[in-house]
Amino acid sequence: MKLLREERKTPVLKPPSFGCLSTIPSINITRGCAFQCVYCYARGFTSAPPKGKVYYYHNLPDLVERELERRSKRGRLPVWVTFSTSSDPFQPFDETLSIAYRVMETLLKRGIGISFLTKGHIPNEFIHLFSRHRSKVRARIGLTSLDERYRDLFEPFSALPLKRMENMAKLKEVGIDVALRMDPLIPGVTDRVEVVEGLLGEVSRIGIGEVSASYLVMRPYLTGQLWRELPKAVAGRILKAYQGQPYQRVITSARTRLLPRDLREEGYRRVKGICLALGMRCHICGCKNPDLPWEFCNPWALGDGERQLRLL
Ligand code: SF4
Repeated sequence: MKLLREERKTPVLKPPSFGCLSTIPSINITRGCAFQCVYCYARGFTSAPPKGKVYYYHNLPDLVERELERRSKRGRLPVWVTFSTSSDPFQPFDETLSIAYRVMETLLKRGIGISFLTKGHIPNEFIHLFSRHRSKVRARIGLTSLDERYRDLFEPFSALPLKRMENMAKLKEVGIDVALRMDPLIPGVTDRVEVVEGLLGEVSRIGIGEVSASYLVMRPYLTGQLWRELPKAVAGRILKAYQGQPYQRVITSARTRLLPRDLREEGYRRVKGICLALGMRCHICGCKNPDLPWEFCNPWALGDGERQLRLL
């Protein structure tokens, strides 16, 4: 993976215009993501770099500092900022980690809350930083299977499951609000009872009580990507589960296919049942399941989004 420098020219603290994130500014440290998950729809964005390249915004800390200064003068500092919608904030490069640290520290020092979702390894210096601002940090760790073979096939350059479990344990130990994000559940792969039970059993043992979950949503770009990057038999089985489903608008894409509703409901019942038995709370992502009763799964309190809206 080649890491390249790039200057960010557009404003940073802009909310993405979709779903429950539509009021929360989102910062991507990089354009492109080194983890190369086979189910990643951000890899199909027109702005995504070619495979094998990741660009990092070297001027991000200065830009954030300047934008905060301007907003502060107008009394319009954001309440929360999230990392990231199309990349992972903890990719294993010194340059990107250093930028992530500076940006997160700047926000936290101004009393702005941060949330992030990661499949990376969180270095200890971040844990120390977060422990000094614990009420302002919401951590979401993406993990759907403890099986390293799954990680090798589906999330080939992400942190090993064991490292992600360590992330959760360390964050929990210093008092951070940390939850497990089981997304995407892949039919016949990560939604099997033994996989879900194994994962949730271990996660509950380290004291994590919050889980959010969602099945893979299929977009046209993903079909080719899964077909190219997975063994044909595995890709074929997954794609078959979505075959014939109508296209519909889900988040930003009007050409999304959802897993049939009855299969999703059955899978979510299974995950929720296991959570309940372990004393954990589970929320299903409302944005990715628009045909099911709405559940709010993001890390902010319901009122936070509205408060934020008034400031943007
Ligand atoms: S970690 Fe997230 S952004 Fe990075 S490749 Fe995987 S799904 Fe995409």
